[in-house]
Amino acid sequence: MQKTPESKLVDPFGRKISYLRLSVTDRCDLRCVYCMAEEMVFLPKKELLTIEELYRVASRMIDLGVTKIRLTGGEPLVRRNIMVLFEMLGKHLGHGLEELTLTTNGTLLARYAEALVQNGVKRVNVSLDTLDPVRYHQLTRRGDIAHVLAGIDAAQKAGLKVKLNAVAMRGGFLGEVDDLIRFAHGRGMDLTVIEEMPMGYTGHDRYETFLSLGALRKSLEQRWTLVPDAHCSGGPARYVTVKETGGRLGFITPLSCDFCASCNRVRIGSTGKLYPCMGQSGMVELREAIRSSESDEKLTELILKAIDSKPKGHEFSIEKDGICGLSRHMSELGG
Ligand code: SAM
Ligand code: SF4
Repeated sequence: MQKTPESKLVDPFGRKISYLRLSVTDRCDLRCVYCMAEEMVFLPKKELLTIEELYRVASRMIDLGVTKIRLTGGEPLVRRNIMVLFEMLGKHLGHGLEELTLTTNGTLLARYAEALVQNGVKRVNVSLDTLDPVRYHQLTRRGDIAHVLAGIDAAQKAGLKVKLNAVAMRGGFLGEVDDLIRFAHGRGMDLTVIEEMPMGYTGHDRYETFLSLGALRKSLEQRWTLVPDAHCSGGPARYVTVKETGGRLGFITPLSCDFCASCNRVRIGSTGKLYPCMGQSGMVELREAIRSSESDEKLTELILKAIDSKPKGHEFSIEKDGICGLSRHMSELGG
């Protein structure tokens, strides 16, 4: 393996930015209630970066010090020719890039699992909030859970390590989380529960559905033995091992716990906006620099400017008298 070049991506608070989450599309085949509105208006295709432009910005980030890239969306696997991007980025593995991965809703995973492995992907995160087919259909406003379960099967068969992500919400989840734990751990998968973040209008009342992970944890502790785990992903998840299953359970608590001090990541949206922090509205527009010149000079200058503007922390909160959130959807910049 070649030596990683010294990172140029260090923010004003001394945090080294080594992790890029790259949204490759704002489109999705589902409409999860916490993420998208039922009638989403997607961006005109010409506004999205092309596969070549996504590659150009990602490879520039690798040159500057990014060692891990996660493709996300929208749903990354609905993007046409997405495997071309995986193939191009996969060639950087072992040459600056240490990990290439994705977050997916899993509906198309059965089709792509083998190709992902061939392009160097070793792990995938699959979002699944319930095992009940009827509730899955309701929560995603259209999905068929059989496709996701087939995707998980295919991914594991192809040799991918799968982690499940579930958004915790009041109304149903407390009664289903035990099944999710048994399912995930029974198949050797970690499960991470995520606190709902106030991003974008989706047509459901977040104050009504917000379930703090503190409350969830208290409820879990009545039935399971949660042993604090030293495992650290470098991200906002805090882990425990469930003694009864031997499996790992993560908690992502952006609202009720501060993880910003160790943040190592930035996000680039599918139109080329670089967001130094998911929980603040600041961003730097890269698309014009990418489209107007073949030289990377301006692009590099803008990336460094964005890193230099990374704030100390997010500004999310869900209060009794209202939600302090962001008008953009999670799918716009990638979760
Ligand atoms: N479509 C893919 C998927 O669902 O995994 C990737 C994109 S999705 C925006 C990434 C993650 O964000 C998913 O795990 C999803 O559950 C989570 N997510 C979406 N909206 C959220 C919200 N408002 N609060 C917390 N998590 C959210
Ligand atoms: Fe689509 Fe993922 Fe958002 Fe659900 S969470 S609507 S699968 S982008």
